[in-house]
Amino acid sequence: MSKPEKFIEDGIRLDGRKIDELRPIKFEVGILNRADGSCYLEMGGNKVVAAVYGPREVHPRHMQKSTTAIVRYKYNMASFSVEDRKRPGPDRRSTEVSKVSRQALEPVIFVEKYPRSVIDIFVEVLQADAGTRAAGINAASVALADAGIPMKCLVSACAVGKVDDTLVLDLNKDEDNYGQADVPVAVTPGGNITLLQMDGHLTSDEFKTGLEMAKKGCADIYKLQKAALMAKYSDDTEGGSNE
Ligand code: UDP
Repeated sequence: MSKPEKFIEDGIRLDGRKIDELRPIKFEVGILNRADGSCYLEMGGNKVVAAVYGPREVHPRHMQKSTTAIVRYKYNMASFSVEDRKRPGPDRRSTEVSKVSRQALEPVIFVEKYPRSVIDIFVEVLQADAGTRAAGINAASVALADAGIPMKCLVSACAVGKVDDTLVLDLNKDEDNYGQADVPVAVTPGGNITLLQMDGHLTSDEFKTGLEMAKKGCADIYKLQKAALMAKYSDDTEGGSNE
């Protein structure tokens, strides 16, 4: 799509959302049998799967730490996930997304409980529509909980950005492509920020307001993450169909 003339008309965005409204979100917990924990997430047009393995033995051995577990995060975009086929395999962008996503989750994991081991997190993007790093973190956080990894809390993520000189929550693809700023944020329920990046320009007032918008979005996502975990585990205790 070429750049639209206007992104917002009478307070409503091109996809019908209000400026502070998230895209529709759907979590599904425990979808992979072979992973210790897993989660499928749809966040607007994004479709991602997160799989968690561990704590388990570290290979290669020289990577192990004698006092804590290490956390590895591998973000991968399927070649069919975007409009123009993506060349398969790692690239600069996926290396960066993997690194910042790991750093967004590591602070809430009790790594000191598992010296000499590794917690592996894999995120596969099946369909991309802007905000895939946030979607990956949301799914990975739930998958970690599903794996029973001891954590201080969940982490929730979404982006805030600017189009038509207006701050908007949870950018879609066109807003991301042609907008003036994109700020992905991850926070704990207590409001501690574990990811904050900025592409584009915001004034310091816009930045402060935008951060509050993103935190509010994350608080709403947190409720959905918790509900998805409750749905799975309350079913289990009642002898439901989940394994
Ligand atoms: N994208 C793409 N091809 C690529 C990488 C990204 O079409 O090789 C699209 C994809 O929809 C992605 C969006 O560009 O979600 C924004 O990418 P960005 O690097 O800002 O990360 P994201 O917003 O997904 O966290």
